[in-house]
Amino acid sequence: MTRRRVIIAILVLVAITAVALAVALRSTPDAHPPEHAATEHPESDIAYYTCPMHPSVEQPEPGKCPICGMTLTPVTKTDLREGTVVVDEVRRQQIGVRIGTAEVRPLVLEIRAVGRVQYDETRLSDVNLRMSGWVQKLLVDETGQRVKKGQILFTLYSPELYAAQVELLSALREQKDGSVTVLADLAGASKQRLRLLGMSDGQIQRLMRRGKPWEHMPITAPTSGYVIEKAVVEGASVEAGTRVYRIADLSRVWIDADVYEADLPHLKVGQPVRVELPYVQNTSFDGRLDYIYPTLNEKTRTARARIVLPNEDLQLKPDMYANVVLDVDLGPRLAVPDSAVVYTGPRRLVFVDLGEGRLRPTEVKLGVHAGAFYEIVDGLKEGDRVVTSGNFLIAAESRIRSAIEYWGSGADHAGH
Ligand SMILES: [Zn+2]
Repeated sequence: MTRRRVIIAILVLVAITAVALAVALRSTPDAHPPEHAATEHPESDIAYYTCPMHPSVEQPEPGKCPICGMTLTPVTKTDLREGTVVVDEVRRQQIGVRIGTAEVRPLVLEIRAVGRVQYDETRLSDVNLRMSGWVQKLLVDETGQRVKKGQILFTLYSPELYAAQVELLSALREQKDGSVTVLADLAGASKQRLRLLGMSDGQIQRLMRRGKPWEHMPITAPTSGYVIEKAVVEGASVEAGTRVYRIADLSRVWIDADVYEADLPHLKVGQPVRVELPYVQNTSFDGRLDYIYPTLNEKTRTARARIVLPNEDLQLKPDMYANVVLDVDLGPRLAVPDSAVVYTGPRRLVFVDLGEGRLRPTEVKLGVHAGAFYEIVDGLKEGDRVVTSGNFLIAAESRIRSAIEYWGSGADHAGH
């Protein structure tokens, strides 16, 4: 009997040792706790134990997951308050979690704006008539036509101009006959009158040599360029003061770009600008910001900025759309990849990797969005590791597990 008891006792001991060994072996990851022993939570702070693979498992005591048999991890009350979630390596891979770092890096803000090619207003010339009359021969009769400075646009029959020419010629004739100074004054007045009607000194000289008035007065182009407006047809009567042509010199054009209010503080007159045509591949024009208009469009909340571009080959045509790109060098700033940021209501969160599978949602204040990065104004420090991929699933988990106010009104209602 005694011998049997001893044998049983030995067997029991062996069995207990075996179980203890097995437990020790199965929980090898825990055999070497990481340096910062965050796992050693005070008993009172532990809310429950969960499986990193099966977050729905919540048990009051340590043990194994009833689904997969993995060792359960403690979830502390601090974790719950902060919304920290525990996600182990295997599950991270399933979710596709990737980690990035908050780093100080040079940020270049790219401002894009839609622009439109405009005439350079300083290079517009109008042909205004100073006398009324009738259009005789119309030589430049199409808008878009190219004209050279001095080229005849049309001829005008003007009774007023004709009379003024006759007046000058007769004053000169009488001056020759009588040589009276009063008449010399009269000729001078007649010349002045012709000038006011738009005749050049050269034309007046030719008139005097010719001794005979012109019936048809040639009206010429004041500059070289393209006719962009034409208000005459052959035979039409025109009033003094009418603008009959508008001629644009297109060898330089303006791009007027609509820039958002928020981007305005970054704009500086003189900064380099790239202009691209959306329908012409690999074409870009380098210009400079010339002017920022002083008013804002109330409806679109945009301001207008002007870029001046040379246009010798006439590739830029008025009214064309153009993409305007301004690169603003912001210098080195603390930033995270933009994919790290989760938007929740008015808040911006990132998940900071605390190690040991713990990911804690952290509110951040963002600065500019430059390229693929967000500037971090507040909430992180250099070197902080943040989740850059899979954070939406983690956010969902954190939302389920915590009652923190980050997650908006849903959590608030749950409390009532
Ligand atoms: Zn499990």
